[in-house]
Amino acid sequence: MRGGGVSVGVGVVVMVVVLAALLPTARPLPDVITIGGLFDEGDEEQKSAFRYAVDHVNRENILGRTKFNTYIEMIPPYDSFLASKKVCQLVGSGVAAIFGPQSGQTSAHVQSICDALEIPHIETRWDYRLRRDDYSVNLYPHPSSLSKAYLDLVRLFEWTSFCILYEDNDGLVRLQELLKTPSPHEFKVSIRQLPQGNNYRELLKEVRSSGEQNIILDCHTEKVGAVLKQAQQIDMMSSYHNYIITSMDLHLIEMEDFKYSGSNITGLRLIDPAREEVVALVETWTEGRVMATNRLSDGDPVLEQRDLSFWTTETALMYDAVKLFVLAMQALDNSTTVTISKLRCEGEEAWVHGNSLINYMKLVRLVGYTGLIQFDSDGFRTDFTMDIIQLGPNNLTKVGTWSRKTGTNYTRTQKETMKDVIQGLHNKTLIVSFAFNDPYIMLKESAAQLTGNERYEGFCIDLLNHIAGILKFKYTLVPVPGNDYGSRNKTTNKWNGMLQELIEKRAEMAITDLTINYEREEAVDFTMPFMNLGISILFKKPQKMAPSLFSFLSPLSLEVWMYMITAYLGVSILLYILARFTPYEWQNPHPCDPEPDTLENQFTILNCLWFAIGSLLQQGSELLPQAVSTRIVAGMWWFFTLIMISSYTANLAAFLTVERMESPIENAEDLANQDKIKYGSLATGTTFAFFRDSSLPTYVRMWNFMKDAKPSVFVKSNKDGVKKVQESKGKYAYLMESTSIEYIIERHCDLTQIGGLLDSKSYGIALRNRSPYTSAISSAILALQETSSIELLKRKWWSDRKGGKRCLTNKEEAGGSSMASELNLSNVGGVFVVLMGGMGLALVVAIGEFLLECWDISRDDQIPLMGVLSNELRFIFKCRGSSKPVRKKASESEVASTGNNIYGSDVYNYSSKNTFT
Ligand code: ASP
Repeated sequence: MRGGGVSVGVGVVVMVVVLAALLPTARPLPDVITIGGLFDEGDEEQKSAFRYAVDHVNRENILGRTKFNTYIEMIPPYDSFLASKKVCQLVGSGVAAIFGPQSGQTSAHVQSICDALEIPHIETRWDYRLRRDDYSVNLYPHPSSLSKAYLDLVRLFEWTSFCILYEDNDGLVRLQELLKTPSPHEFKVSIRQLPQGNNYRELLKEVRSSGEQNIILDCHTEKVGAVLKQAQQIDMMSSYHNYIITSMDLHLIEMEDFKYSGSNITGLRLIDPAREEVVALVETWTEGRVMATNRLSDGDPVLEQRDLSFWTTETALMYDAVKLFVLAMQALDNSTTVTISKLRCEGEEAWVHGNSLINYMKLVRLVGYTGLIQFDSDGFRTDFTMDIIQLGPNNLTKVGTWSRKTGTNYTRTQKETMKDVIQGLHNKTLIVSFAFNDPYIMLKESAAQLTGNERYEGFCIDLLNHIAGILKFKYTLVPVPGNDYGSRNKTTNKWNGMLQELIEKRAEMAITDLTINYEREEAVDFTMPFMNLGISILFKKPQKMAPSLFSFLSPLSLEVWMYMITAYLGVSILLYILARFTPYEWQNPHPCDPEPDTLENQFTILNCLWFAIGSLLQQGSELLPQAVSTRIVAGMWWFFTLIMISSYTANLAAFLTVERMESPIENAEDLANQDKIKYGSLATGTTFAFFRDSSLPTYVRMWNFMKDAKPSVFVKSNKDGVKKVQESKGKYAYLMESTSIEYIIERHCDLTQIGGLLDSKSYGIALRNRSPYTSAISSAILALQETSSIELLKRKWWSDRKGGKRCLTNKEEAGGSSMASELNLSNVGGVFVVLMGGMGLALVVAIGEFLLECWDISRDDQIPLMGVLSNELRFIFKCRGSSKPVRKKASESEVASTGNNIYGSDVYNYSSKNTFT
């Protein structure tokens, strides 16, 4: 849209609350209405803007045939006398309103004359006063709203401290909300005034040495570039530095040099250059400006420059002010007959319409080039929207909006921020502090003289190379003095080691086996963990046990041995009893004599014991059972001995081939419960802090032991700890992180890990507090984890490099030893059960055999069964003698009449079945 076709309408929304449009006007407006303009000498921009804005509304014919004429006077910025004179000249010629000037001193005079003559005074300048005169409106946002916006920005960025660099007292008014500090603990504020002249370096150096990285810069737009340039010269424009610049005209500053500095430069603006109306206006303005100043000819480069680079906020406000005035005039015209009077400064007379016109102005709502224009009941422009802009590789970009009602609305996504951070990292060289610890970072062994980063190698170096490859940054490795990881001194509250390097800004990153813990996390930033671990105990490998004299007993547990002895005695006794019960074990002692007088039982108690032990030792005996019952006993016992002896033999082989290890401690509890073996940890690290801060009774006891130990049990490095364990010959245990233990025991076969993990934690890369790179590096670590690159690196440095897997065979041996364990009842209990079952069966069979025999006798001899039973049982339970007289039939027995036999009155005759073998 160009020339006359341009609609300056700007999508104007006019909402005149009292619109008396229907009222007929008695007399039309004068054909020409003059508007006065007072501008500071040299302020051509404002003058042109005013003139061009008036031209524009004339072309738009908002008031029909009535046109506006400008009466412009230029005055020196500080000459109030001349300003008053000029105002009088203007009002004397009959003006409907006076615009300007921009200078605060002259403006006050103009305002007081306008007040007296009731002529509307329209301003577009920064004015800190909290009260305004009746006949004045100012389109510049009210200081209270602006300072609220800056407070909201500080809260958005979660600054906990910042430094205000201000040029003059206006700045302090602009930032009053920040100085009032709503909550005294919300943030720490320091305030410094920029010195006169052009050299701000000393002041900036002071800010730098105070460690402050968040700066609010309040100075004239022309000075901003110089301050930033000098800040850059003294290294205060790094990625860690954040600036909020209060100038609303950041687009006027040459920012090319700071675009890639990485520092976060934020500002607010009223004009959104992307809005269609603004684009159109800028285009026509370029031409109109040319016409108005009549200084440029076609083809002049300025004509081609259709951007905002010469458009101040005040210029845009001037446009909106003219528009506002015209709309109010229209409303006034609709409500009354407007006449313009020529007034005298010295006279009593005032303009009759001045009051109505200013009231209409305060009622109008319009969307101008500087956003929504409306006034609160006090006539202040408090409700408006501003863009939050940030400097990035693509220059100033809008990252959100602010309005009094909704506060900040930050529309920048995490991804976009990250993209900028990554871009900012490209080709940057970061200082990386590190502590030596195998295999994380070690000195490279090489015949050639190495320099720079080449001197170091290890897991962390490879990891860093991967990350640097992804994010395309460079780094310089700097070993930390003293090789300390970093712990806080509880009394001085000071950190040491790598953490100190980060806090004191000597390094940007710290890497090694650096554990993430709460205390450290409060002082610095940590990336996502790259390895998980826990504290464990490094100790001398258990000593080989000297073979014991009675090691042959080891294959079976004591319990099993006891059960076996019981089984042996039980089976022997049972065999003895059953043999006496069963008639088939009473044999003819002289087989050649078909009619013996006595029968013999081979299973005396001694023979039973002998038979059982003979079987148990797999040697046998001459004794062989004859009856089914005793054979069942023997069979079951042989089965039992077969299983037991085979198990014993097998386990004995394992016991004899494996050397048994013996360790005096099995876990942390064992360590805590003794004082012969000393134990300690690294002197400055999280292991040390873990015991110091733990409240678990075992660890508290361990901590008390360690801290009181003389000489100290703490060591300077893990290497020293390992050496101490090796040299102490089992008198020192080192509390160390499990991943490092893993590495050590693969190489030092005399060492081992004792027990499990005492805690669970992770290693991460530390960065300065609130470092912009934390998320980017975390993402790179996640990406490496997903592709298993970190796992591969671990394998490379733990197993494949520098003597890894050396102790694997030893380990396997050690694993073998644990397999040779004694057999206990749970392993062989079943065999005992089978044996007991067999014995029960044998008992039943023996009783059967016994009853059958008694039944036979009772039937053959016609003796009552009970009598036979009692006689037989009496004989059996006498348990005396292993011979028994042969039973004769009562008729055959003479002895029977005498009743003189061992059974008493009864005489028995044993059938032939007793005599066969
Ligand atoms: N990795 C530990 C640290 O970061 C060192 C240790 O305490 O073993 O402090």
